[in-house]
Amino acid sequence: MDLSKLSPGMIAQIASMIEDYITSSKKKYAAQAEPLTEAQRNAMQAYFPTQVLDSARLCMLRDKRVPNPSMYSMAKLMGFRNLPDFSEMAAITYVDVIVSHQEFTDALLFHELVHVVQYTQLGVKEFAVRYMSGFIQGGSYEEIPLEKMAYQLEQRFSQNAKQIFSVDDEVRQWCEGGKF
Ligand SMILES: [Zn+2]
Repeated sequence: MDLSKLSPGMIAQIASMIEDYITSSKKKYAAQAEPLTEAQRNAMQAYFPTQVLDSARLCMLRDKRVPNPSMYSMAKLMGFRNLPDFSEMAAITYVDVIVSHQEFTDALLFHELVHVVQYTQLGVKEFAVRYMSGFIQGGSYEEIPLEKMAYQLEQRFSQNAKQIFSVDDEVRQWCEGGKF
């Protein structure tokens, strides 16, 4: 199936499945997640709203991996290709619960907190819609605008940790500029 020909009704239906997946995963991992440590807060506080740093929860999986969403089998039948393998990802953010397969470096934490800001500004439903349509249009995980932005800002942070900027403002500008 040519994904660009998916009907708006179908797109809305898939987006709502993604939304349900995000919400239930948030619940599932929240129980074993913890707030940022003092050191993590200190490293992030110049870039993120206090509210985001207060609400974010981290869950590091030691001998488990996040399984792919159950909707993957259906998505593959529909013609989705290149679906990212969740177990291979460094971390995944479900609203404000960040699930990681490895120790949090500042760069990784920064990247995932950008997603928390995106969720906060867009809402879960809109985040799901934009994430999915970004994937359909770009054809791969790397081309999803919400990811591109997180990688760009993470890079800015890593390259020059002394140059402060507001992730909240950056995300707002992208939203207003229709970049995703
Ligand atoms: Zn990401």
